[in-house]
Amino acid sequence: MTTKNERIETGWNFDNSYSGLPKLFFSELNPTPVRSPKLIMFNESLAASLGLDAKALQGPDGVAVFAGNEIPEGALPLAQAYAGHQFGYFNMLGDGRALLLGEHISPFDERVDIQLKGSGRTPYSRRGDGRAGLGPMLREYIISEAMHGLGIATTRSLAVVTTGESVYREIEQPGAILTRVAASHIRVGTFQYAARWGTVEDLRALADYTLQRHFPEVAERSKVDDAENRYLSLLKAVMKRQAELIAKWQLVGFIHGVMNTDNMALSGETIDYGPCAFMDTYDPATVFSSIDADGRYAYGNQPHIAAWNLARLAEALLPLLHDEEEQAVKLAEDAISHFVELYYENWFAGMRAKLGIFNEEPEDESLIEDLLSMMKKVGADYTNTFRALTVDKPEETALFGTEEFVQWYELWQARRGRQQESAADAQQLMRSSNPALIPRNHRVEEALEAAVQQGDYSVMERLLDVLSNPYAHTPEQANYATPPVPSARPYRTFCGT
Ligand code: AMP
Ligand code: MG
Repeated sequence: MTTKNERIETGWNFDNSYSGLPKLFFSELNPTPVRSPKLIMFNESLAASLGLDAKALQGPDGVAVFAGNEIPEGALPLAQAYAGHQFGYFNMLGDGRALLLGEHISPFDERVDIQLKGSGRTPYSRRGDGRAGLGPMLREYIISEAMHGLGIATTRSLAVVTTGESVYREIEQPGAILTRVAASHIRVGTFQYAARWGTVEDLRALADYTLQRHFPEVAERSKVDDAENRYLSLLKAVMKRQAELIAKWQLVGFIHGVMNTDNMALSGETIDYGPCAFMDTYDPATVFSSIDADGRYAYGNQPHIAAWNLARLAEALLPLLHDEEEQAVKLAEDAISHFVELYYENWFAGMRAKLGIFNEEPEDESLIEDLLSMMKKVGADYTNTFRALTVDKPEETALFGTEEFVQWYELWQARRGRQQESAADAQQLMRSSNPALIPRNHRVEEALEAAVQQGDYSVMERLLDVLSNPYAHTPEQANYATPPVPSARPYRTFCGT
């Protein structure tokens, strides 16, 4: 066991507010120890931002915690219960291979969940082995850190250890555990679970807890204002964050791949990196996940799926919204009906910025739509089209040379001329809105192959490095901007996590 002294050295400072919820929301249990843990990845900058001691955590005692072989002082490991609609079908789920160690309170008074993913079986494991493979855990590490670099709210990755044991999926793989850092792991599915199997008081406890933890301003306001419907405010606050989040996904071409209600966090962070991937060629119908045969979670569908998921949250909240069901339904429907509009506001604002436009004109919508429709027609690379416009090299886009593009380009130049800001300001806005690179699927695969097959982490380290500030537009990043050769497509991702 870790001693008091070591706690101070490592910087862990646990609190366990989630365990104060009614018992149906979790099961207390310890991780299943692993044979021979080895630290593979460690996120020094994240550790520093959480007030953790990087050196101590990389030592044997620190690694034992990441492996689930030691419980740090103050932690109270538990598996969270939740339900969820998976591809539209409702199921009881829960942490089947993850445990919340507790909430770390940083010296900057930030409260974050510390979760071990791949830590062994739990009461919610169903037929699963409770374990995770090295490839998928490294993949989550890369993509979540890339999302953070892109300025998109996301869970983070603090460490990956291998366990010295194998996991068996389609192939035998080294077992691994990811230490995930999240604002919380409260999901739409957590509310669905409460509504289905809890009492109204259980549901209220969860809602109050979520308000306090993620929307303290709403919680405070409703204490002084009796007229405020705090649970309706909770729904609206969650919707606002999701509208912002999904707009950001769309703006960089991120496809989550498995937007089940259990994979949507109320904090507004991107969570659960399974079959996610970034779009190369612009096409709203893009799907990477091998199990998404109907394209439910296609790129262009993500905003609608978010609205669908939020409607499931609203349904779960009904008993808290109003005493009379009919009134409650009306309040919920009213709120949800605004989601798509809310999303578009965020998306348009982001698209204007991608085109270096500061103010608003009614024709902006068609300017944006026309560009996207040209891109779709010729199969232009999404990221590189905006990148070429940003660095003022229109000849590098696949659109160049067509009459349509010449006309569009003139309209765009004229549009930018009709704002007060200088051309230099507009270019700066574009640079900070259009990444020089994204984690291209073939680059991610290359990094994972070197790591998992050859034990060579240098490819991944270099990739993580260029992805850490994708708006820098450095010469080195240019090498990572090349789309995959056509033979590498179609790219397929698998849930075999
Ligand atoms: P995911 O697809 O990662 O969102 O997981 C969906 C559900 O399956 C969650 O309840 C997970 O905890 C559970 N699950 C996924 N992989 C495993 C595994 N290897 N063992 C047990 N449960 C798992
Ligand atoms: Mg999940």
